[in-house]
Amino acid sequence: MLNLTTSAAHFERAKTLIPGGVNSPVRAFRSVGGSPVFMQSAHGAWLTDVDGNRYVDFINSWGPMILGHAPEVVLDAVREALPHSLSFGAPTNREVEMAELIRKMVPSIEKVRLVNSGTEACMSAIRAARGYTGRNKIIKFEGCYHGHGDAFLIAAGSGALTAGEPDSAGVTQGVAQDTLTAPYNDLPAVEALIAANPGQIAALILEPVVGNMGLVAPAENFLPALRNLCTEHGIVLIFDEVMTGFRLAPGGAQELYGITADMTTLGKIIGGGLPVGAYGGREDIMNCVAPAGKVYQAGTLSGNPMATAAGMAQLRYLHEHPELYTALEASSARLADGTRQIGAELGLNYTVNRVGSMFSLFFTSEPVTNLDDAKMCDTAAFGRYFHAMLERGIYLAPSQFEALFVSTAITDELVEMYLKACRESLIEAH
Ligand code: PLP
Repeated sequence: MLNLTTSAAHFERAKTLIPGGVNSPVRAFRSVGGSPVFMQSAHGAWLTDVDGNRYVDFINSWGPMILGHAPEVVLDAVREALPHSLSFGAPTNREVEMAELIRKMVPSIEKVRLVNSGTEACMSAIRAARGYTGRNKIIKFEGCYHGHGDAFLIAAGSGALTAGEPDSAGVTQGVAQDTLTAPYNDLPAVEALIAANPGQIAALILEPVVGNMGLVAPAENFLPALRNLCTEHGIVLIFDEVMTGFRLAPGGAQELYGITADMTTLGKIIGGGLPVGAYGGREDIMNCVAPAGKVYQAGTLSGNPMATAAGMAQLRYLHEHPELYTALEASSARLADGTRQIGAELGLNYTVNRVGSMFSLFFTSEPVTNLDDAKMCDTAAFGRYFHAMLERGIYLAPSQFEALFVSTAITDELVEMYLKACRESLIEAH
């Protein structure tokens, strides 16, 4: 049994001071039970907790640490920037260089604005799209997460044509009325929403590959069809690439699938582990953003020198080493294919979805193509599996509805360690 005594003590204290004891809900282990592990340090593929237990990390801070933890190239950049200023609140040339590199890697981004999180990026992109089109409504997909902005915390109404219901207390009905939702991969539902709201939809936002209901890939032709619909109806197509950006390919999902989005939101990898987000896209839309245009958006720490130093170093490294994506594809394929095979050998036939270095083991044998499919999973069995993996030194996301993120620090030996733990844990969970 893992000794988690110190973690448990920290958590008890945290609960008296912080809502639920954590600063972001899924960290609390609510859906898998038990007490969260408090971390002490991280290096390469490995995490060390406050009780001295070590784990191979398949969350990687929910995506940013694509090079593993504490890569020298990122640490060096931060060390170099550190003596100059922690924050200027004034323009720096590194922001210009970063914008240039982002545009090079994601060519649909003609202009870009740096912010501090993926949430900010998505909220701001929607505002810019509304300002640009003069329309109010947006379409999002059930199970896609775009941060905690009010407009995104909306679940589907009873029918595809009804306005959404707030998914969180504190979100007003007024906001919900402007967010229309459709099941992911359901083109007719999108067409029906557009037909029922003619000339009223400013933007359609989606995760081009979904990481937030577990890993769900777009059906063939789904993305091109959305592209065509948006063009036809003057709707701004926003790819939320906060997870997929710089991960599925140097240019993200839009490079992988050959689609040009009107706007793109970024986060996670772009900060190298420090808080950065970005939104960008067509110049005519981005020119609506203040002070160039009338859509207001600002940030005290936007373009922060530490965050841009870390992010720039990581992006540049990825840009200069495209072979890393080939290596990630190979190790991720071994992990996902091995997981699927073990499930089959054990007669479980569980679904494993993978795109690039993101994958999910769903505790269902049915295909998972949208949120309703994902909800069919045996989450209790997943909880037992999660804890069995933790015992064996494998740190997974504490929820069935999250993807695994593979880093370049995962060696062949660690793939074998994961697969051995996976087999033992699946047996233990059943
Ligand atoms: N968009 C997507 C696709 C995400 O996965 C997330 C966070 O996980 C966000 C937006 C919000 O980003 P942040 O947590 O940095 O606010």
